[in-house]
Amino acid sequence: MSPNPAKSPENCIYVGGSWRPAHATARLDVINPATELLIGQVVDADAVDVDTAVRAARDALKSTAWEHTTAQDRARMLHALASELTARASVMARTITCENGSPIAETSGAAPHAADFLRYTATLADSLDADVRRFPAGGATTSVRRVPAGVAALIAPWNFPLTLVMAKLAPALLAGCTVVVKPAPETPFHLAVLVEAIEAAHLPPGVVNVVTGGAGTGQLLVAHPNVDKIAFTGSTEAGRAIARECGALLRPVTLELGGKSAAVVLHDADLDVFAAQLIRSCLRNTGQTCYAATRILAPRSSYSDVLDIVIETVRSAPLGDPFDPTTVFGPLVSARQRDRVEKYIRLGTAEGARITTGGNRPSHLDIGYYVEPTVFADVDRGMRIAREEIFGPVLTVLAYSDEDEAISIANDSHYGLGGVVFSADDHRAAHFSQRLETGSVGINFFGSNQAAPFGGWKQSGLGVELGPEGLSAYVKYQSLHRRTSPVEEMEPYLSDQGPAS
Ligand code: NAD
Repeated sequence: MSPNPAKSPENCIYVGGSWRPAHATARLDVINPATELLIGQVVDADAVDVDTAVRAARDALKSTAWEHTTAQDRARMLHALASELTARASVMARTITCENGSPIAETSGAAPHAADFLRYTATLADSLDADVRRFPAGGATTSVRRVPAGVAALIAPWNFPLTLVMAKLAPALLAGCTVVVKPAPETPFHLAVLVEAIEAAHLPPGVVNVVTGGAGTGQLLVAHPNVDKIAFTGSTEAGRAIARECGALLRPVTLELGGKSAAVVLHDADLDVFAAQLIRSCLRNTGQTCYAATRILAPRSSYSDVLDIVIETVRSAPLGDPFDPTTVFGPLVSARQRDRVEKYIRLGTAEGARITTGGNRPSHLDIGYYVEPTVFADVDRGMRIAREEIFGPVLTVLAYSDEDEAISIANDSHYGLGGVVFSADDHRAAHFSQRLETGSVGINFFGSNQAAPFGGWKQSGLGVELGPEGLSAYVKYQSLHRRTSPVEEMEPYLSDQGPAS
């Protein structure tokens, strides 16, 4: 995969601005999910490697090349990185598709999307300047300073690997943090492309460090005494373990976790719009998308019409080689993920739901971790296939009688990440959307906006990414009070009315 194994995660960790031989001797296999062939192996970083990377990040935090930069200087670096990433869009797309099987039509957008996010984040630079606030009673002012949170550990999953690193990296860099990135073990090699772009953009050495490995490497990073902030995207189960550790350490943490979103088709929905948006909203990336609305709620009166559209749309979407630009459904990321999806398909049948299409491995593909897109009808809200995150191409279609029941079913979930409402009446859809207990809702489409917060309610997460709100997770505040009146004139305020602390 990599042209030079001596300069890649096959044998090295990226610390202090160069690939250096890892201490760990253990390696993890990286498999192409479409061919089942070994792409290569990567370092399963150990405690020494993690410590080396964190130390490099800590040193860089205090280096003159970084500590004395202004947010505006760092914004210029984000622009430079955006250009370098854009120049590598094609190799980035091919690398990600090779690693995780995402269709090339999807991964072709990865670097441009990341570049757009870098450029957007750069526009927030001025918001990091200190602002001055008067004491309400007069006599003094306070400068509110935004100080980098410190060394941030960025832990990412495999499904949109670059996007989910960038949602953390761009605000961390703008805020003045230095970072250690840990990609998922399934998708380590695309970070070598990112590292190339970082070097070409002349980011100071040690500002971005990379260690590869599995959950154990992630745990070492989370618990490392010199890490100041954790940003994690992944499963709710791992998020809960990380939250426990961060709770014990009182370490700030952002968690973007699992989901089981609903797509609610209201009585007046334009079914052509629903059909056109179905794959992107409900099965994007072969269903391996956190916000995918895999519970489709249809009015009882038009249940069979909605179901027919779902079946027809899913059946007609091309499945196969992820390098074919027309492919919509690729393989699942791993044999383990395929096992999980197949387990849920068997479970759905055992629970009494009816498979209307799919349910098997495609007969024309005997290599690759493929599963046919599967649509379950006659699904009850209590079934596990309607409650648990499957993370594959499996849809459940549920019936509701009126909007109150639709709200009750949609909100009857431990998760609260996304959701889509289909209606011809924007006002009605907006009113309905406001009753959904989720961090994001789309009307007649779903897409995340880089300028707006994205995050989960309930067990879908803690805190948000993107937008100015996402940037604020990478700063600490310091309030610097200065007298503007002689101290005796302030005395009554300071002694009697000052805020209690
Ligand atoms: P995962 O939780 O198994 O792993 C995610 C990352 O965390 C990997 O890098 C992994 O090595 C590491 N990790 C695992 N356990 C850890 C621990 N205890 N401590 C530290 N690091 C640990 O998830 P996955 O299978 O890679 O990704 C799929 C999951 O991610 C799904 O649940 C999906 O919904 C979720 N996800 C959420 C969002 C979001 O924005 N909310 C986006 C994408 C994916």
